[in-house]
Order: sequence, then structure tokens, then C-alpha cells
Amino acid sequence: MPYVLIFLAALIAFIAVLLHRTANFKPEPLEAVALSAETVDEDKILRDMQALIRCKTVSYRDKSLEDNAEFEKLEALLPQLFPHVFGTSKLTRLTDRSLLFHWKGKSPMAPGVLMAHYDVVPVNEDMWDKPAFEGIVEDGVLWGRGAIDTKGTFLGVLEAADHLIAQGFVPENDLYLAFAGDEEISGTGAPAIVEWFKQRGIKPSFVLDEGGAVVENVFPGVKEPCALIGIGEKGPMDVKFTLDTNGGHSSTPPPHSPVGVLAKAVSNIEKHPFPFHLTPPIEQMFDILGRRSSFALRIVFANLWCFRPVLDLICRLKGGELNALVRTTVAFTQMQGSTASNVLPPHAWVGANLRLMTGETVDKARKRLKRLCGDKRIQVDMVMGMNPSPISRTDDEPYQRLSKAIRATWTDAVVSPYLMLACSDSRHYGPISDHVYRFSPMALSKEERGMIHGNNERIPVATLVKTVAFYQRIIKSC
Ligand SMILES: [Zn+2]
Repeated sequence: MPYVLIFLAALIAFIAVLLHRTANFKPEPLEAVALSAETVDEDKILRDMQALIRCKTVSYRDKSLEDNAEFEKLEALLPQLFPHVFGTSKLTRLTDRSLLFHWKGKSPMAPGVLMAHYDVVPVNEDMWDKPAFEGIVEDGVLWGRGAIDTKGTFLGVLEAADHLIAQGFVPENDLYLAFAGDEEISGTGAPAIVEWFKQRGIKPSFVLDEGGAVVENVFPGVKEPCALIGIGEKGPMDVKFTLDTNGGHSSTPPPHSPVGVLAKAVSNIEKHPFPFHLTPPIEQMFDILGRRSSFALRIVFANLWCFRPVLDLICRLKGGELNALVRTTVAFTQMQGSTASNVLPPHAWVGANLRLMTGETVDKARKRLKRLCGDKRIQVDMVMGMNPSPISRTDDEPYQRLSKAIRATWTDAVVSPYLMLACSDSRHYGPISDHVYRFSPMALSKEERGMIHGNNERIPVATLVKTVAFYQRIIKSC
């Protein structure tokens, strides 16, 4: 009987600890931020954006599919749209798909870099309700490929800079406006710009590229809009699993055909996901947004010391975005065996795409997969791979500067770091800056986020106007 009492006392103590920690897990009150008045020319913003959308700057890995004239058309437009940027800053062309403007500030000591890309992904015209490259405006919404990804921020940076220069503004520090025209095909534009910085010993104190946005209903239980700043990104990796055999006739198969051996390896890898790993961006996100979550979820986030295994299990079972935030993921995407149904394949292979978590490396990941294959005959090769980016700092001025400009533009937003799951050109900046931030200054609904690389991409003109105002604020504080 005393054992029952001891158990009950321990249970009550355990629950008391959980509740006590939950009660103390309260959000910081949102600091009131004054909305600095920014004048913007709404008509010009719309006109310029329409002109940019009308340039069909679609990039393809197969260069023969690209229409170079469309890129030239866009580049020729820029001096007309942004004459003050061209009059004040020095333009350097490092590749034929990149533009680097150097806008001299009062000091070269702590330069900032504002990034965007002006190429877009192809469209499937049949699936669009309106033409993708005409710049049609209906009910205050501008239609066009690139409206969000990322001609919107490309325009935002240039429009803000042009407007401020026209007013005689000079930034405190040098600013570089760095644009690539081949981001969507992982081109050489951004790496060439980073190399240029490296050769000159220039270490940017602040880099801002596409990434998170102002979003709602993404974190369970949080009602406020959240401005998510990517402070790191996962590393992409393609792996090929190959099995070569003697082949033979399918009428006399071995107990396990090459396809069967590969299938077993695939199954074993899926059964043994990479370990659950809470990295700093996610720990910070859980801490900031978890405090604003519902009571039930706050119990979990306030007590990760004991709920970690439960969270791990939920993530494993659910997969998707939540799971991708806490571990290296493996997605099997390709497979090939024989070309005829009655021939055992002499050469069979399976392809997987991985997204490596901070702390993982392409080498370690490949070795783990090789081990999990459980069959020495399977060859495991990396087709392409890049280690995850370093994690940028959030404890000093550049992050605060970004948070302030965000709060001054979206006054009710809660700013939080997060880990970017997709790739951006900013990953190349890891070696030269501790302050690389991935944030697209736009409030985007779930539907709008779904249009990125999808059909019917469009953006309210009011969203663009705020994007320009945000860039004016950030430039003023750089
Ligand atoms: Zn894109």
C-alpha cells in the first residue's frame, strides 16, 4: 500500500512541476513600435512591377530553352525605372546573370547586402486563369509569374533605394544590392558575387534574402501573425543507390531480384529516420511561439525535457513540415529497373533527395544510408550535395535591426527565427557573414504561399506597397 502512496505522491509532484513550468512559460509582451511614416509612390510601384512581370525571365537548366532577349529586356528597363540607383551606385556585372550595385554610405566598415533574384520558374499556361506575363491587375491584385518569387522583393529593394536616393538620403554604411538571374537553377550568379566579396575581404555585417514571411496559422495555437526569419537553411543532397547484377531471364529468378534488394534497403531506411534534433532556430521558435500557443501545447513546449520523445514520435508519424524542422529527411523520388517485364535488370537504381539538418554533413549522411542498406552490393553515391548553412546570430544588433523594421511595418506581428527548409542563394554567404537572414517582407496567406512555383501567382498591390516601405525602413537603419 505505501508503494501506491509513493507513486501517487510522485505523480502529483510530477504534474505540479509540469504545471508550474507551464505557468511560467509566458510570452514577452509585444513592445510597442512607432510606425515611422514612409512616403511611397503607389502608382509607380504598380507600373514598375507590371513592367518587370512582362519580362519573361524564365531560367532553365537547359540553356537552349532560355530566352536571353527577355533577360536583356529586363536589364535594359532598370535604368529607366530606377534612374537614381544607376546615377549613384556602381554596377558590376560578374556573370551575365547577376547584378551587383554598390551604394556608398558614410562608412565602408559594416556593409549590408540586400538580395533578390529576377529569374522565375516556368509556367504551365493552361493551368493559369490569366496570362502569366502580362501584368494584369484585377481588384487590386497583380497577376504574374514572379509576383511573389521574387520580383516583388527585387522591386522592393530597388524602389526603396531609388526613392531614398532621390530624397538625398545617404546610408550610414555601404549597401550592396545583389541580384541573381539564375537562382532557380542554382546558377553561378550569387556564388560569383560572394567570391567578389571574398577577394576584396568584404565581410557583410547584414545580409537579407528571400525566406520566411509574415504568416498566420502556421504555428499550432498561435493566433497572432508571425514574422518568420530564416536564420539557417538545410543542406540539399541527392543520393543514388545502384545495384549491378548479371541480369537474366525472369522465368528463373533468384530469391531476391535486384529490385527486391533495393526495395528492402528503401524500406529499412524509411523505418530508421535520422535522429530527432532540436537546433537553435527551432529551439528559439518553440520558445517564442510556444509561449503564445494554447494551454495544452504550452505544457508540451514548457516541458520539452520530458515530452521530447513524444514530440519525436508525433513528428515521425506525421511527417511533413513539422518533421522536416527537427531532422534530416530522406525522400525517395526515383527508381528504375529493367526496360522489359521479363528481363531481370542488370542495372537497377533508386534515387533519393535529402535535406540535411544543421550538424549533419553530406559525408556522414551517405555513410548512414550505406549502413542502413544492409547489403554490401548496393553502391551508394552522392550525386549532388551541400552541407547545411551555418546558423546566423540573433543576439546582436543586426537581428534587432531587422526585427524593428518588421515590427514597424507589421505592428501586430511576433518576430521569430526559424529554419528554412528550401534553398536560397543566401546559403553562399555563410562563409563571409554571421548575419544572414532569410525573410521576404510580405504578408502572405496560405493560398499565396501555395502559388510560389505553382499556378496563378499573384499579389495584392497593397502588399507590394508595404514591401517597399519595409525596405525603406531597413535601408535607413543599415
Ligand atoms: Zn523560387
